[in-house]
Amino acid sequence: MRMRLLNPGPVTLSRRVRESLMGQDLCHRCPEFGDLQSDVRARLAAVYPEAAQHYAAVLVTGSGTAAVEAMVGSLVPKDGKALVVANGVYGERIASMLQIHKTPYEVIRSDAEQPMNVAEVDRRLAGDHGISHVIAVHHETTTGRLNVMSVLGEICRERQVSLLLDAVSSFGGERLDFENWNLQACAATANKCLHGVPGVSFVLARREILKMSESNAPCLYLDLFRNFREQEAGYPLFTPAVQVTYALQEALRELEEQGGWQRRRQQYQQRSEVVRRGLLELGQELLLDEQHCSPVLTSFRMPEGIDFDNLYRELKARGFVIYPGQRALNGKIFRIAVMGDLTEEDMREFVRAFHETVSCLGGDVIALAAPV
Ligand SMILES: *Cc1c(COP(=O)(O)O)cnc(C)c1O
Repeated sequence: MRMRLLNPGPVTLSRRVRESLMGQDLCHRCPEFGDLQSDVRARLAAVYPEAAQHYAAVLVTGSGTAAVEAMVGSLVPKDGKALVVANGVYGERIASMLQIHKTPYEVIRSDAEQPMNVAEVDRRLAGDHGISHVIAVHHETTTGRLNVMSVLGEICRERQVSLLLDAVSSFGGERLDFENWNLQACAATANKCLHGVPGVSFVLARREILKMSESNAPCLYLDLFRNFREQEAGYPLFTPAVQVTYALQEALRELEEQGGWQRRRQQYQQRSEVVRRGLLELGQELLLDEQHCSPVLTSFRMPEGIDFDNLYRELKARGFVIYPGQRALNGKIFRIAVMGDLTEEDMREFVRAFHETVSCLGGDVIALAAPV
């Protein structure tokens, strides 16, 4: 049975990406790795063609969190101050990083079920504010809310405050407006919307910033400037995840051949439509208003009287891995992500499996004569 991962990364791999892991053994100081690294960096910067000229990709060996930490740790200067706009686990994680790094910061926080408090950001940035960077999460995977960046971006541009974005679960599958959001950098990973293998992540940052020689990084390994200089000179700073880099190259080729981020976004939208229509017809409830749900992931309230662990186990036995809620939402929701090598037929099959599972667990589903 083919296991279909409906968790928000790592994703179900396509055959060609999986097979690319079998590429030849390579020393990372061989010219072949240098070429691979340059190719992957160039492809990453070209996922959004309008960014290719002014932004450069810096590869980081580690999960998405490593890239976010390299970005916020290196780019907020010691005499600067960050304003974190948080409405979920990932925004809070950024605040924890800044606290550990002893970087001055403030947080404007909303509940995970609420939008970012942009009005408060606007008030905070009026007059002599002393803020150098606003940091936000594009797609809050905690709930599946696609944060509306246009107003926040406009505020940043008007007040000339740089924006740093956690785009870990949106890069490659959602619009990013580099110029209008005053985006200095964003961080993302190989194994979410790009459909690669976990182990490599990256920061896409404005070239002029990366060329500054002064670094603020609180640690050596995640020093973005130092990694940038070495990668520009041709080789990685330390031992990279060689095979994972092969897989990222293949995944980026696949993305280009399949029509880029716009087409991928459309596919996610279609798959999520199937899941939402299917589960709503079975009487399930969305956590957020549908207009706020990202194409990538949807949160549903746990069906009455059913335990997440049982739902997880039964669906897994039918070939689908679902994901629980985090923190305060644990036990209250389950999440369905549609990234990876999946089809609309997979999603229809999921709806059938869900119907069967909830019925056999004794939960309330609207009995349909003929499930979708
Ligand atoms: C997945 C994710 C991360 C990073 O998670 P890792 O497990 O470190 O890859 C960061 N931010 C968001 C919004 C995410 O969805």
